[in-house]
Amino acid sequence: MSVIIILLTIIIGVGVLAYLRASLVVTTVAAAIGLLVLGKITGGPVASFLLILAWVVWAYVACLNLREFRYRFFTAPALKFFRTALPTISKTEQEALDAGTVWWDAELFSGDPNWNRLLELPVEELSPAEQKFLDGPVEKLCAMVDEWEISREHGDLPAHVWQFLKDEGFLGMIIPTEYGGKGFSARAHSRVICKIASRCSTAAISVMVPNSLGPAELLLRYGNQAQKDHYLPRLACGDEVPCFALTNPFAGSDAAAIPDKGIVCRGTFNGEEVLGIRVTWEKRYITLSPVATVLGLAFHLYDPENLLGDATDVGITLALLPTDHPGVETGRRHFPARQAFQNGPTSGTDVFIPLDWVIGGQERCGDGWRMLMNCLAAGRAISLPASSTAGLKVCARTTGAYAQVRKQFNLPIGKFEGVQEAITRIVVNTYLIDSARYVTAGALDAGEEPAVLSALLKYQATERLRQSVNDAMDVHGGRGICDGPANYLMSAYTAAPVAITVEGANILTRSLIIFGQAAMRCHPWLLAEIAAAADTNESRALIAFDKALFGHIGGVLSNIARTLVKNASGGLLGSDPSVGEVNYWYAQLERASTSFATVVEFALIQLGGALKRKEKLSGRFADIMGEMYLMSCALKRFEDDGRPDVDLPVLEFAFQNSLHTIYVRLDEIIANLPSRPSAWVLRRLIFPWGRRWRRASDQLGTEVSNLLVTSPSFRARLCAGMYFNDSPDDVIGCLEHAVRVTEVSEAAEKKIREAIDCGDLPAYCDDVVDEARRLGVISEMEAEQLRLTQSALRRAIDVDDFAADELWGRVPETPQAADAA
Ligand SMILES: Cc1cc2nc3c(=O)[nH]c(=O)nc-3n(C[C@H](O)[C@H](O)[C@H](O)COP(=O)(O)OP(=O)(O)OC[C@H]3O[C@@H](n4cnc5c(N)ncnc54)[C@H](O)[C@@H]3O)c2cc1C
Repeated sequence: MSVIIILLTIIIGVGVLAYLRASLVVTTVAAAIGLLVLGKITGGPVASFLLILAWVVWAYVACLNLREFRYRFFTAPALKFFRTALPTISKTEQEALDAGTVWWDAELFSGDPNWNRLLELPVEELSPAEQKFLDGPVEKLCAMVDEWEISREHGDLPAHVWQFLKDEGFLGMIIPTEYGGKGFSARAHSRVICKIASRCSTAAISVMVPNSLGPAELLLRYGNQAQKDHYLPRLACGDEVPCFALTNPFAGSDAAAIPDKGIVCRGTFNGEEVLGIRVTWEKRYITLSPVATVLGLAFHLYDPENLLGDATDVGITLALLPTDHPGVETGRRHFPARQAFQNGPTSGTDVFIPLDWVIGGQERCGDGWRMLMNCLAAGRAISLPASSTAGLKVCARTTGAYAQVRKQFNLPIGKFEGVQEAITRIVVNTYLIDSARYVTAGALDAGEEPAVLSALLKYQATERLRQSVNDAMDVHGGRGICDGPANYLMSAYTAAPVAITVEGANILTRSLIIFGQAAMRCHPWLLAEIAAAADTNESRALIAFDKALFGHIGGVLSNIARTLVKNASGGLLGSDPSVGEVNYWYAQLERASTSFATVVEFALIQLGGALKRKEKLSGRFADIMGEMYLMSCALKRFEDDGRPDVDLPVLEFAFQNSLHTIYVRLDEIIANLPSRPSAWVLRRLIFPWGRRWRRASDQLGTEVSNLLVTSPSFRARLCAGMYFNDSPDDVIGCLEHAVRVTEVSEAAEKKIREAIDCGDLPAYCDDVVDEARRLGVISEMEAEQLRLTQSALRRAIDVDDFAADELWGRVPETPQAADAA
């Protein structure tokens, strides 16, 4: 009995002290009191032996309070071991790690997120000028463009649309007003892209590129005054059309390895001999390159004659070249995913450019990778999340309405459970990604440049778009597959792989970038430990390492205790009751975050630097971070929207399934960690009762699906921000029109069905409506209404057909015709 009391007291005591993050001094004193009391109340030889053992451990812990002892017998050996286990970090990796900021990602990583940091983030309304732009030029642009016409007939935006984009300042949204640009906030920028992309991806991409990573952004951050004064006003009004070229046939994902090179040399420019660079490049996939007037170019700079300084290998360098400069070869086009936006290769051999063309001038030579990483940290959070949100909204709005008006087996297809499953996924994806888009844009406006979150959001948004557009296609059946002007899904369907591939291809982003960077940057102590270990001043290194290490140990012990308590209590201990009906989900998210942090520590301890190469584990950690981030954003949006009751089923469904994914991934990670005993411990901590998280119920899924299918107001609210033309003649407006008229004529339709069922009306007559009117089953007004409904329904379900020569420019020869000839 005494032995059990001793063991239990020690375990609970250590757990409580760890949970409360007690300091070393408090732990020492509390442990001494505990052991004294145990000595008084227990007895027997085994108990005495245990107590002696406990006192020995206590003595060591107590000695750790003495700084010199701690440094010598604990911190120094730990530092020595840590240095041998450290992963090697290349210069380009370090620059990627240094880019941007950490924000809510660090909170989720800590295992104890401070909700105020998220909930108090101000996501302000648009300014009057921004709102005016959205309601005016953006609306007008959307009405002007037609994706089908552009892709089939023009192969580009028509000239008058390009001119409109330039005249209205679409290409200069990120350029400050002092240079003639719009100076828009990230929120406005995101909303503009979202609206255009919901109408026409070619127009959206043509607007996105000049406003994302490229010449304007690079100049704003790193350009010298002369370069800014020259280019920014011209970019703002569209006199210059930019593109940015990094990708080489031999360096795609591994862009830091580009073989394109520049050699510092003297040459003649404008009749004068100047210091410059002889550049040779071969780039591909460059968006807007065929129409660009200014080329942002990344190349590796070498200075063999040391004309700039001591370094021969200067590093990646970025320059701006007018595309009419002799030697710049552009103009041909790629045809990515059969989309009409401008994209093509560019090349040049031994093209001499003056040093002034390097962005930021000579002092920025070799700084290119860092410049790119910094721009990417923020830029990746806007364009692709906004355009993916647009695609999701198109899927949601059209699929919801279509599932209501399309009937099979005498029922709207939205009533079939199989269809509901797909629709529910579309609703949840749309809600989550729009929430994350909104919150992340707000964070950018608040000064954050969240490098990890922007990669994570790019991945989640584009993957969920791909899933939802497939679901939307499935629900539409042949209506979604046959291409033509009436098909509103095909463009998003074909363009989804483009979004998946650009700005960091998704497999790489998921399995290497997100967690690889987060583990270093968001971890509360790791970076400090690495910095200390890299310090060559031994005494300074020891002091800094000691501080970081003890913080780390305290954090790990606390997270272990919290993981057990939260999982054993079903996540209910530690929740904040002030947040009302969604309190439960805050508590569950905290529980997931704590469990995640604990598993991360176990993985880091076992694998150290090798974790970087364990992409399957890293990808699963990235999935967990993705789910946690989207759920956090959903909670923030729910609060900002004033907690609308109607959104609760969506939120609940999203949470149930996200938590299911999180615990499945945790389980998979634990199963694949090398140490079996640690896996055993982790399973006890995370699944103390053995149960995994269940997916959301079928009933809840139906509730969510019904919201989209049967409630036009919910559809409109969920899809707010996409371009929507209410006209019965519009490609999407016709669906909502069909919904409206169907509702009006429902009673008349019922009368006809009943008359047919009773045999009063023959089902086989030529025109049932006419016959029903003639027999007095329905009134003239009802007959008129039904005719309107029939034509609206026809418009909503019709697909296009073409003469063969309309599609291929000639009538293809059939085998029969060939035989006859
Ligand atoms: C339509 C389009 C527009 C583009 N626009 C531009 C532009 O304007 N400017 C520009 O410079 N570039 C542009 N790109 C290039 C784009 O950024 C690259 O395509 C992208 O970086 C991937 O390179 P890659 O296609 O060569 O694929 P690869 O690098 O060959 O990768 C192939 C696959 O391997 C995966 N992979 C590679 N390395 C790893 C790893 N370590 N771990 C796990 N998976 C890995 C990738 O995720 C991918 O799935 C564009 C590309 C396209 C298709």
